[in-house]
Amino acid sequence: MIRGIGASTGIAIGKSFVLPNWEWEVPEQKIDVADFAREFERVYEGIRTSKDEIQQIKAELCEVVGADESQIFDAHIAILDDPVFMNEIQGIIRRQYKAAEVAVKEAIDHFVTMFDLLDDEYMKERALDIKDVGNRLLKHLLGVPEIKLPTDTQPFILIAKELSPSQLAHINPDHVLGIVTLAGSTTSHSSIMARALGIPLVVGIEPNLEDEITTGQILIIDGSEGILYLNPDDGLIAKYEALQIKQAEAKKHLQHFIHHHSVTPDGKSLRLAANISSMKELDIALSSGADGVGLFRTEFLYMDRNRFPLEEEQLEVYRSVVEKLAGEPLVIRTLDVGGDKQLDYFELPEEDNPFLGYRAIRISLDKTELFKTQLRAILRASAFGKIKLMYPLISSVEEVRAANRLLQEAKQELESEGIAFDGGIKTGIMIEVPAAVMIADLLAQEVDFFSIGTNDLVQFTLAVDRMNEEIAHLYEPFHPALLRMLGNTVKAAKAHGVTVGVCGELAGDLRALPIWLSLDVDELSMSAHSILHVKKRLLCTRQDDSVSVFKELQRCRTGTEIKEMLQSYMLSVDEQTANG
Ligand code: PEP
Ligand code: MG
Repeated sequence: MIRGIGASTGIAIGKSFVLPNWEWEVPEQKIDVADFAREFERVYEGIRTSKDEIQQIKAELCEVVGADESQIFDAHIAILDDPVFMNEIQGIIRRQYKAAEVAVKEAIDHFVTMFDLLDDEYMKERALDIKDVGNRLLKHLLGVPEIKLPTDTQPFILIAKELSPSQLAHINPDHVLGIVTLAGSTTSHSSIMARALGIPLVVGIEPNLEDEITTGQILIIDGSEGILYLNPDDGLIAKYEALQIKQAEAKKHLQHFIHHHSVTPDGKSLRLAANISSMKELDIALSSGADGVGLFRTEFLYMDRNRFPLEEEQLEVYRSVVEKLAGEPLVIRTLDVGGDKQLDYFELPEEDNPFLGYRAIRISLDKTELFKTQLRAILRASAFGKIKLMYPLISSVEEVRAANRLLQEAKQELESEGIAFDGGIKTGIMIEVPAAVMIADLLAQEVDFFSIGTNDLVQFTLAVDRMNEEIAHLYEPFHPALLRMLGNTVKAAKAHGVTVGVCGELAGDLRALPIWLSLDVDELSMSAHSILHVKKRLLCTRQDDSVSVFKELQRCRTGTEIKEMLQSYMLSVDEQTANG
């Protein structure tokens, strides 16, 4: 058994196809000064052809996975258009008298090494994009054919060193049972696309395996557990085939709960909403029976393009989301960039601690025109459905007041322009910084609702970077400190008549359900894939029992004790349910 990271769930059993590296040898070639113009023109021509090809791939992909996922190719075009990339290539031609293809190869290597050296997952992903688009350009300069996946064989499990979005774009889900990549992370563009296509994916397996796996070997991959088996015996294959059938049945069984109301056996209703960042995810949310959208991460609208989205462009997206929700509420979170989320075209300062730095509401309150554009778009969309507005990373009353002042200005502008919006639009804040928890009573007097962002709240409460694999074992959402944080926040909200939801990953963790029921929160917002699992659990978990469990949890001294207690409670509920 080989361990990797599960990046897209599901089991695949089949023969491997090992993708040859999409990298070419480029022999050294010297040129004369008189050849400069010709070599520049070859680069321009290569860029033109590459751009046409990318546009075509984008259009094809758009039909399969939707506009949002295919937008990543805009980032590739932006690289080809980037003057820094072009200057580097021309500089090498001019200063070192090298032919176009040699200069392009050296420029790619230069930028890839530079980005790879940075200790930042996002920048490493950008290195992959540069390599991908740079190889496309090289392919045209060298006149070599692209490596295509076979389409006339049995469906296979694709093995690749790393898989670029361009390569993934050519994949027909009917031909590819699953994917394994040596490199990669769950947040890479390729992983996002594999999930959108519903292809099981395991990333980050040991590099020495590259030589061990050859085309035609039988493999099993488990995209939930991040496991790969090479040449499994018949017994193991039979076991995983049975598991595959079980998973398909479980998925089908969960569909029964789609039309059930989200309510406990003793009558506590709890809205189960979805977190989304794209239209494609909205479709999944709708097909999972979500009670609206509790968190629309709008920063993804700002990514994968080479400029800030215009008011009209944002309006179009917000409006179509809220219209598709047909009366269910939509919580739109204002821009939350910075930290691990960067915009290619918006240069954020280099910071020692970007998660504690210039990000989220801090940027919005600094770049007020940018913020106002988003506020105007959200307000205008509120004329077409039930929209609520939410500010991220709030840590003081001043921030809420400043944001609300700008909201007021945006409202006045729209009014004087005679443009419709919902005058009573509800505003809320994310509770994801310990300071916000400690002054929750004061913040509650400024807003209509709270949404607890446990992802960041855990990170900041425990001082554990949520991106750092070295200390991942210290990232403990069930830490007793968190329990107290949650209790404090909900208590303050209730005392001031403010509704309170949870939208971090913990909202979709089945073990945490008794905590939410005991605290009596109003909404859980989670990844759409978790909704039916949580609903099934909710239908058999009593609120009064949860209150007793929570009292016990408060006596626990460690996260492990808390998890054990929640686990054993889940088992007891399962037993009771099984015994009717
Ligand atoms: C959170 O911090 O819990 C949250 C939901 O926001 P994000 O994961 O986008 O930071
Ligand atoms: Mg957050």
